[in-house]
Amino acid sequence: MIKGQDNDIKQECRDHIFNTYARFPVTFVKGEGCRLWDDSGKEYLDFLAGIAVCSLGHCHPELTRVIAENAHRLIHVSNLFYTYPQVELAVELTRLCFADKVFFCNSGAEANEAAIKLARKYSWERFGRGRFHIITMKESFHGRTLATLSATGQTKVHNGFEPLVEGFTFVDFGSIAAVEAAITEKTCAVLVEPVQGEGGLNFPAAGYLKELKALCGQKGLLLIFDEVQSGMGRTGTLFAHEQENVVPDIMTLAKALANGLPIGAMLATEEVATAFGPGTHASTFGGGPLITSVALAALRIISEPSFLEGVRETGSYFRARLEELRARYPFVASIRGRGLMIGMELTVPGAKFVQKCLDRGTVINCTHDTVLRFVPPLVVSRIEIDRLIGILDGIFAEEAR
Ligand code: PLP
Repeated sequence: MIKGQDNDIKQECRDHIFNTYARFPVTFVKGEGCRLWDDSGKEYLDFLAGIAVCSLGHCHPELTRVIAENAHRLIHVSNLFYTYPQVELAVELTRLCFADKVFFCNSGAEANEAAIKLARKYSWERFGRGRFHIITMKESFHGRTLATLSATGQTKVHNGFEPLVEGFTFVDFGSIAAVEAAITEKTCAVLVEPVQGEGGLNFPAAGYLKELKALCGQKGLLLIFDEVQSGMGRTGTLFAHEQENVVPDIMTLAKALANGLPIGAMLATEEVATAFGPGTHASTFGGGPLITSVALAALRIISEPSFLEGVRETGSYFRARLEELRARYPFVASIRGRGLMIGMELTVPGAKFVQKCLDRGTVINCTHDTVLRFVPPLVVSRIEIDRLIGILDGIFAEEAR
């Protein structure tokens, strides 16, 4: 296969890789900061960041240095032994949030799988058998393993994989009454994204998460926050739940944790974490020394108060610029966002705008059919935002004609 001969790679991909992704006809070969280049040398502005993953931009020099240094030192030994970067990352993560303990894995789905298992095990030990149901939200997304797709409140994710894992009940996101009505003697936990990402960038009303915590407290349920997408500075605080002044019992992370290398983490309070002992859960690759050294370096940058303040400021600027478009184009229904997790709800399907942006050298994405999603690297500049706004303006003007 010869690099640069575009048809070859598409054909080879069709011939040899499972057909599980609808891919755009672009082959990326290089990235730097908020820019990507395809194999014809065309430059793109990246407002997707690998779906909220490359938060420090592509090939961040410090992270690349840490990758190279640790690739020379130690890549893998298994969790039968101690390694310094894994423990240092856990110390730093727990210092920065409510949690006392961390379990490392390799993806968001695995982190949620671990959280579901932990909630069941904790409840089994504390209350006995049969109390294993988890309330989750409609339009949520928690992953593609069997348990996490069963926990996901979208039938399109379930179709064809039934019977699903037993014990998940879906309620309206944002409604405390709906959660209250769904609680039974079998319920052990509530699982919720503080901000729904894949479900269309849905932000619950202020106070919702706090009320949820109070309700869980009253009923003896664990509260699990899936911060796989909303965490790691994406919304302008290290974790989105900080802005609601509430902490969960369990939290899951992945995506931006190592800026593009695969890692997931499940964090919990000491009390809840004790339900897992040796032999209850494991991962061969989870928390290996290479990946955790990169995650630690990324965390040190992202958790700096001045960095997070920058995310909030850039996010406000970006939303204000998107609001200008909303004021001018009637098919833009609303702008929703916090920090640099921003959605633009349209009254028409968004796919054609994504394609047109790509044609003009800009990567964005559409979720839930009508919501354009902007999750750029957190280091995006105002100049880059202005360029995107100019491109969207041109595309929208064509549509309005
Ligand atoms: N949870 C949330 C909130 C997500 O947005 C995603 C992925 O988009 C996942 C879980 C699954 O993560 P992964 O694709 O790493 O398994």
